[in-house]
Amino acid sequence: MNNMMCPACGTATLVTETIFDQEIERCSSCAGSWFDEHELNQLISDQNPDVDQHDLREHLGSPVGTSQRHCHRCEIPLHTFQLLKNFPVEIDCCPSCDGVWIDHHEAEQVRHSIELHSALQRIHQKVTWKSWLFQLLLQVPVEYNVKAKSFPWMTVSLLVLNIVLFLPSLLAPELANWLYENFAVFVPVENSNQLLWSVVTCQFLHGGLMHLLGNMYFLWIIGDNIEDVLGPWRYLGLYLLTGLAGIGLEVIIALASGTQMSLVGASAAIAGLFGMYMIWFRHAKLSYLFVLYQARLNVFWFFAIWLGLNIFGLLTSDGNVAYWAHIGGFVAGLLVGLGLRRWVLDRQPLLRMLQTPAVPLKQ
Ligand SMILES: [Zn+2]
Ligand SMILES: [Zn+2]
Repeated sequence: MNNMMCPACGTATLVTETIFDQEIERCSSCAGSWFDEHELNQLISDQNPDVDQHDLREHLGSPVGTSQRHCHRCEIPLHTFQLLKNFPVEIDCCPSCDGVWIDHHEAEQVRHSIELHSALQRIHQKVTWKSWLFQLLLQVPVEYNVKAKSFPWMTVSLLVLNIVLFLPSLLAPELANWLYENFAVFVPVENSNQLLWSVVTCQFLHGGLMHLLGNMYFLWIIGDNIEDVLGPWRYLGLYLLTGLAGIGLEVIIALASGTQMSLVGASAAIAGLFGMYMIWFRHAKLSYLFVLYQARLNVFWFFAIWLGLNIFGLLTSDGNVAYWAHIGGFVAGLLVGLGLRRWVLDRQPLLRMLQTPAVPLKQ
């Protein structure tokens, strides 16, 4: 019988436990676990339906050094490895028997190491001449973020609805006019009944093709992740709510200042999504084109610049763009994001891990 003293705390012996049909050894004092190498690979493979046979060694980052801990089977020092490249959580492996020691607090990262690996690959992608050309020609950013797990059918439905409602502007100007007259917001208010529904309906109409395309692109890249986190109906509810907050602010300010205006567009609701995105996906990057130089900006800086441009627009505006609606929607989204942050992170282990200080927010 080998010495079964815990390699980490040395105060308790390891006891055999069964988790997910695998027998492992666990310390009853520090809750760390010992895996024989094939056991850990099997466990990770079983937890990830997409993976047939995981090999942890293929993904391990560089060896960091020799650990203070000893293999309780071979009685030699363990070697310390980075769990994943660009992810500074470390685990201890025995160079002789290939066993792995995992501290209790590392267990979650190890269990999700496959997801983490692909997430980090996506987030750390470099800009390429293709991404540069894309942004130069279309003037929209490239997103570097985790992939949505489920198909974003509510986002797609919103896209389709917005596009279908824009078609009359191209094909049937009279119908487009009728939509605008009845479903846009107008200040001063001549028909107070219309105001009741138009604060919602105006969010699905657009004044021009570029206005529509810009909004729909952001809805597509940001909306899928937010929908993934919230589920389709909560997502729709908060999309409308933050949109309403932005439109409401714009209307109140126009009424108070006696400005004449009409209002259409999904911008306020999409600005609401920006606010939630900035809180829940703070590891994500969006590319930004500084004249000809494309940089990957952390979402915080990306939206800080976006907000700055909106405030600048507000101060120098000729009244064509509803800057207050953008700012109002964004602030509402930030508040929703902060209010639901705990709830979201409790349900999303991957996002929770990406928010640990362990993850370098490097450019
Ligand atoms: Zn222990
Ligand atoms: Zn060993």
